[in-house]
Amino acid sequence: MAEAYIGLGANLDQPRQQLCVAIERLRQQPAVLALRCSSFYRSAPWGDADQPPFVNAVAVVETTLTPLALLEVCQQIEQALGRVRDPERPWGPRRVDLDLLLYDKAVMATERLTLPHPWMTRRAFVLQPLLELWPGARLPDGTVLADALAALPERCTPLPDGAA
Ligand code: AMP
Repeated sequence: MAEAYIGLGANLDQPRQQLCVAIERLRQQPAVLALRCSSFYRSAPWGDADQPPFVNAVAVVETTLTPLALLEVCQQIEQALGRVRDPERPWGPRRVDLDLLLYDKAVMATERLTLPHPWMTRRAFVLQPLLELWPGARLPDGTVLADALAALPERCTPLPDGAA
């Protein structure tokens, strides 16, 4: 059994609802045996400012899926929820985006999957919800994620229950 952290983000078509549906789809996977989800956060768009703010969360799952099989599940959920990729705007608006952040202590860099997720230490909208689930979080190389967050200038805002 492995423990994996998945980052979720959405900024179109009732983003909070999109995240709830994506989390429910993850929970329904037969090979996902347990799931905990962070609070939801609002964050400013990253990399492409001309779009609505995002709603972000992180889920931790216990799973028997391999890293690649878990990535495929994440991508199937993105597609099922109607994500359309715009090659001109890799950081553009999206119904839902699921990134595999950490999978146990796996370290890999293949064409399809890089672990840990290469941008995670630069994104407060990943680190804040992840640290809520795992306050002492470290990367496999020992990097303390609370220190990575402390080094970032921006923070995202916890969303009150019921906010859109
Ligand atoms: P994105 O547009 O952020 O969803 O990026 C998806 C692309 O990044 C896909 O081609 C994935 O195969 C690739 N990728 C590499 N590493 C990861 C990862 N850790 N999590 C999600 N996608 C990844």
